[in-house]
Amino acid sequence: MSQKKVTILIPCYNEEASLPALYEALCKLMAENSNYEWEILMVNDGSRDNTISMIKELRAKDRRICYVDLSRNFGKENAMLAGFDNATGDCMVIMDADLQHPPHVIPEMLKKWEEGYEDVYGKRLTRGKESWLRKQVSLLYYRLLQKSARYDILPNVGDFRLLDRKCIDELKKLRETERYTKGMYAWIGFKKASVDFETQDRVAGESSMSYSALVHLAAAGITSFTVAPLKWSIFIGILASIAAFAFMIYILVNTLIYGDPVAGYPTMMTVILFLGGVQLLSLGIIGEYLGKIFNETKGRPAYVAREIAKNNQE
Ligand code: UDP
Ligand code: MG
Repeated sequence: MSQKKVTILIPCYNEEASLPALYEALCKLMAENSNYEWEILMVNDGSRDNTISMIKELRAKDRRICYVDLSRNFGKENAMLAGFDNATGDCMVIMDADLQHPPHVIPEMLKKWEEGYEDVYGKRLTRGKESWLRKQVSLLYYRLLQKSARYDILPNVGDFRLLDRKCIDELKKLRETERYTKGMYAWIGFKKASVDFETQDRVAGESSMSYSALVHLAAAGITSFTVAPLKWSIFIGILASIAAFAFMIYILVNTLIYGDPVAGYPTMMTVILFLGGVQLLSLGIIGEYLGKIFNETKGRPAYVAREIAKNNQE
């Protein structure tokens, strides 16, 4: 039987400073595991620095390096889809370009894969440098997400994982343009196993995930995997109606017993403002889903590639 082929998928956005160290680490990994055939698939996500020319240089001297050059910055989630589409391996390992995902864990993942697991995810033991607040918010978010979606979207598990060819083929079928890949891994199912790793510090450069990007991703996570918020607004509506009804009875009884001294301006304002707020909130939630429908019905591709360089498949 011929060698099994492993694709390493690396989305790269402004990573010129990390690439040399990354390539060196990968060379070491490939040399130590020469029983596999390797393919390194780099997706240049519209970098504004020299990332693409460096990738091209690497490919000129090492044919194991393949690349997809996107026409602009589409975001990591979409860059990964470009990678799923072009990977040719029997399995694929996704990792970050900044070496925050240590390559020495990959042989462990491969071992689990050989044991028959189809989705081997890296589990962060430490979350790297991060404030206490951000950590708590993140944990709360996952608890909420897990409660409202019917399958497990795990905290402390990211995109560092090994996927069998079967998983890649299924992920390729999920073509939505506002992607939340973390939820998709859970959605497709398959036999999962975990491997622990310590998040490293970035080798070079800066994180391009701003707070606003994270908030956007978090919202996408909820709205693309569950319609629970729509149900919450029904729930809040019912609660508010019951409260309003009780209040009405109270006012009626009050008026009948004590007469009507036309007071109650503060209570009236409070109720109006509260209900107005709840209504706007619910409208906003509906709008969020409507916007998603609008975007998806346009049926645009999730990314546009300027150039794809990969080795011919037999
Ligand atoms: N990345 C990408 N497109 C983007 C932003 C990030 O392809 O628009 C890549 C980036 O090059 C890196 C990975 O996604 O390989 C993780 O990004 P980063 O290290 O900035 O995020 P963090 O580790 O802070 O979550
Ligand atoms: Mg990083």
